[in-house]
Amino acid sequence: MTCLFCQIAAGERPATIVYRSDDVVAFRDIHPQAPTHILIIPTKHIVSVAEATVEDEGLIGRLVTTAKEIAQQANLQGYRLVINTGSQAGQSVFHLHVHLLGGRALQWPPG
Ligand code: 5GP
Ligand code: ZN
Repeated sequence: MTCLFCQIAAGERPATIVYRSDDVVAFRDIHPQAPTHILIIPTKHIVSVAEATVEDEGLIGRLVTTAKEIAQQANLQGYRLVINTGSQAGQSVFHLHVHLLGGRALQWPPG
């Protein structure tokens, strides 16, 4: 298995896991861009939003509600959820993931 995030989901690669269920895993980003920077992924390998299907709707919804729960537990006053899709948009790991960013003021528009 060569996908980094499949390896993390399977426990085959170390990560600071903050949440785990049968179908969703959340862990701290190795290069945090904010005081709170957590990645929420499906355990199912989906390359990106561009490859997601209607069958994945419930799963993708759970990524967002999991992010909300983590943000509430971290007592974030505001936060941003980001899903980079495709290399031109900055996606570097091709296993769908939601970035949860918070703990500092965030600029808009992003770069
Ligand atoms: P992307 O650029 O694809 O939207 O986000 C990928 C994120 O994964 C980056 O923020 C990067 O720092 C993070 N990342 C890459 N490899 C690893 C790793 O092995 N462990 C963890 N925890 N994060 C990683
Ligand atoms: Zn994967």
